[in-house]
Amino acid sequence: MVIEKDKVVSVTYELKLAKGNGEIIEKVNETRPLEFLLGHGNLLPKFESNLTGLKIGDSFDFILASHEAYGEIKEDAIVDVPKSVFVVDGQIDNDILTIGNMIPMMDNMGNRFNGKVVSVNNDHVKMDFNHPLAGEDLHFKGEVVGIRDASAEELAHGHIHQAPSCGCGSCGCDSDGCDSGGCSGCN
Ligand SMILES: [Zn+2]
Repeated sequence: MVIEKDKVVSVTYELKLAKGNGEIIEKVNETRPLEFLLGHGNLLPKFESNLTGLKIGDSFDFILASHEAYGEIKEDAIVDVPKSVFVVDGQIDNDILTIGNMIPMMDNMGNRFNGKVVSVNNDHVKMDFNHPLAGEDLHFKGEVVGIRDASAEELAHGHIHQAPSCGCGSCGCDSDGCDSGGCSGCN
């Protein structure tokens, strides 16, 4: 069996920044490999295409340029936010306004995202809402540890359903849709 669209693929890998001394961003080992349904937009398209055609036991080693990964740094994603936004119970929590701190925020549509504190002045906080890996070329090196056919239900949902041991039954989703994380959120 080789990796192709509609297969459930398990991989272990190490993700490093391609530049400089190759800072390690993430390590995924055999104990808990990354398992995903290929060809349904679950992972970066270029990551999936680099795995296509491989077999169990094959290793991989490739670099995704930033435009194939999380995009370039956008200047307009670095914005001045009024300090009043950070007022909780009438007070600004200065501890969270530390340069470099990631702060979970929500826009007026209810979308959640993280912003990084760039600088703080008297009435504004400069926040960077770029993806933490924006502008970075990513080096993935790893091994294919599993390939299986997806079930009809998995194909219909567009994501994997993990073993019942995850505690949410066959699927943690309701009938008319699931979030992209599927059952993985209930580990
Ligand atoms: Zn599902």
